[in-house]
Amino acid sequence: MMVTLSPPAVVRSDTHTQHDRGSGSTVELRNIVRDFGGGAGLADFSLRAEPGELIALLGPSGCGKTTALRALAGLERVDSGTVLIDGADVSDRPTNRRDIGVVFQSYSLFPHLTAGQNVEFGLRMRKVTPAERHRRAAQALDLVGLDHHFGRYAHQLSGGQQQRVALARALVTQPRVLLLDEPLSALDAKVRVNLREEIRRLQTELGITTFFVTHDQEEALAIADRVAVMQSGRIEQVGTPEELYRQPQSSFVANFVGLSNVVVGEVLGGAAQVFGRELPLISQVEDGPAQVYVRPENLSFGEDGLAGTVLTSSFLGAHRRTRVRLNDGTELVVQHSARDIKEPGDHVCIALNSEPVMAGNSHTKGKS
Ligand code: ATP
Repeated sequence: MMVTLSPPAVVRSDTHTQHDRGSGSTVELRNIVRDFGGGAGLADFSLRAEPGELIALLGPSGCGKTTALRALAGLERVDSGTVLIDGADVSDRPTNRRDIGVVFQSYSLFPHLTAGQNVEFGLRMRKVTPAERHRRAAQALDLVGLDHHFGRYAHQLSGGQQQRVALARALVTQPRVLLLDEPLSALDAKVRVNLREEIRRLQTELGITTFFVTHDQEEALAIADRVAVMQSGRIEQVGTPEELYRQPQSSFVANFVGLSNVVVGEVLGGAAQVFGRELPLISQVEDGPAQVYVRPENLSFGEDGLAGTVLTSSFLGAHRRTRVRLNDGTELVVQHSARDIKEPGDHVCIALNSEPVMAGNSHTKGKS
C-alpha cells in the first residue's frame, strides 16, 4: 500500500536543532505489533539500524514494509512496541517531533510551488528567515544536482527530477533519519538506476541512517548495507546482500532473493541428495524429502551430466540464461557465458557444481 503525505513529509524535531552531519543515529523498532485484523500488519517486528546505515526493507506486496516505515515515522498507530532513536523512546512523539525526513513513491510536490519553494516548505514551517530558507533550499537542490531548477514548477520537471526535489525537501531540515518508500518505482529503468546510485552516494556522504522500502530485489541488493527480508508482517532474515544471497536461512529467502531452481530431492545425514549428487547444505534441515534450491550459476553445460533439451535461451549482456527440460521432465535454468550460444532444441548435458544449497523439508510449509 502506498501513501502520500500532504503537507510534504519534511519533519524535524524541535529538540534537535543542531544535528551533527555525518554522525548518524541508531534507530530501533522493538517488538512492534500492528494488527489490522485478518492477520495483516506487523507481528512482533524488531529491527535496529546502526548510525549511517542504509537498510532496505524487501518483501512481497502486503508484507508490511510501508506499515513498518509509517510506524517508525509515527504516521501509524501501533498496538504495542517501542521506537527508539539514539536510544530515546520516541513512541509517544508525534511525527513532527521525531526528526525524520520521508520520500514517498508518488511525487508529492505542491504543484503551485516552485521546486525551491517546495524545498523551503519545511523551513518555512519552522519559521526560518526568508534569506536563510532560500540559501538552504538552494544548497539542498545543489546536493541533488538541481541547482538550476529552483524556479521550476512540478509540471516542468521530469519524474526523476521531481523525486530529486522530494529528496532535497526531505534533507533540507537535516533530519536524523531518512525514510524512502519505493521512491524509484514510478521511474523508468535507466533513471531508476541512476537515481538509486545517487541516493546511495548522498546518503553515504551525509551519513544519514536510512530505511529504503522496495519490492525489487535487485534494487535492495544494489543499494543497501543490509537488507531485511519481510514476509507476513515479520522479518524473515536480515543480512548483507551477500549473506542473503549466499546463506539464505529459509526457503522463502532463497526463493525471493535471486533466482533459484527448485528441485525435488532429499536431505540425508546433513546433506542434500539431488539428481544422484550429494551437495552440502547452507543450513541444516531434518532428514527427509526436501525442496532443494539450486542457483542457475551453480549449473553448467558439459560433456556429461543431466541430459535434456534447450527450451529457450536469453541474452543478458554479460551472460545468458538458458532453460532446459531434462529427460525426466524437470526444468532447470542454467546461467552461462554469453559466448556459449544455445538454441531451442539443442541437446545438452548439465553438471551441478558442489556449492552449498538451501533445502526446505517438503512436509513443512513449502515456501517458508
Ligand atoms: P506494497 O509493496 O504493496 O506497498 P507493503 O509491504 O508496503 O505492500 P503494507 O502497505 O505495509 O504492505 O500493508 C501490510 C498489510 O496490512 C496489507 O495486507 C494491507 O492490506 C494491510 N493494511 C495496511 N494498512 C491498512 C489499513 N489502514 N487498514 C487495514 N489493513 C491495512
